[in-house]
Amino acid sequence: MARQQYSDFLCQLYGHKVQKLNVSAGFTCPNRDGTKGQGGCTYCNNASFTPAFGRATSSVTQQLLDAKLFYEGKYADMKYVAYFQSYTNTYAPIERLQELYNEALAVDDVVGLVISTRPDCLGDDVIELLQGINEEYKVIVEIGVETAHDRTLELINRCHSWQCAQYAINKVAQRGLVVGAHLILGLPGETEDDMMTTVDEVAKLPVRTIKFHQLQVLRGTRLAQHWERGEVQVLNWTAQEYAHLCRRIISRLPENIIIERMVSTAPSELLLHPRWGLKPAQFQQIFDAP
Ligand code: SF4
Repeated sequence: MARQQYSDFLCQLYGHKVQKLNVSAGFTCPNRDGTKGQGGCTYCNNASFTPAFGRATSSVTQQLLDAKLFYEGKYADMKYVAYFQSYTNTYAPIERLQELYNEALAVDDVVGLVISTRPDCLGDDVIELLQGINEEYKVIVEIGVETAHDRTLELINRCHSWQCAQYAINKVAQRGLVVGAHLILGLPGETEDDMMTTVDEVAKLPVRTIKFHQLQVLRGTRLAQHWERGEVQVLNWTAQEYAHLCRRIISRLPENIIIERMVSTAPSELLLHPRWGLKPAQFQQIFDAP
């Protein structure tokens, strides 16, 4: 059985060709507001993955309408999935979460949700809410795992453990929700063998999709400060070397796990390292090269 493409997987799940639309709903994160930690994960700069029309300067409805306008001109007969991506998208009182998710689903042609969150922000009330929505629409819960190594989680100030991620993935999947795992490759102090262990451990869990990418050192982060001062070493790999690692990873993942993405491309003005200067399609060509 050949591995399904992510776009085909979404099409099958939602019963229609869909485009994900980023929504920034004004959440914060317990690792920034002092509830779990201060200052956030050392590599985190949310501006690197929030497109202009997905900034929390307008309502969820307006963001979705603006984004739809952008895509409607490009693709005919498209449906949409609201992607709550920035910060921790289950970190608010349950009534507020319900209001925001319902607002997104009330927009014409929005047929489902992708909710990105931390594993320690998936309490029973949140899962019940998502489970209820999932009965009518489909919900993917994208859980930030990053690594299966607690020593690394501590080093990057994630303020949750690998066990916490395992527990959350199992609990969410048991409720019939689709679970996506997010991993970062090349975290400080990790060898390729460490990364393979993470991949193997995640593959044992009821994960339906995996999104992984290379660690990027971004301006304005604590990681950047540590890296510039030489206090932290990060891998100095080329795009070709990274593509080789991706091939190794994919070859050991079961065919039923869908690969959503394997590279990240932060805006050039934010990216300090590694500066490959590649668009995702250009990286794909390197990956596909014999
Ligand atoms: S990466 Fe996620 S969990 Fe970490 S500080 Fe940023 S928003 Fe919070």
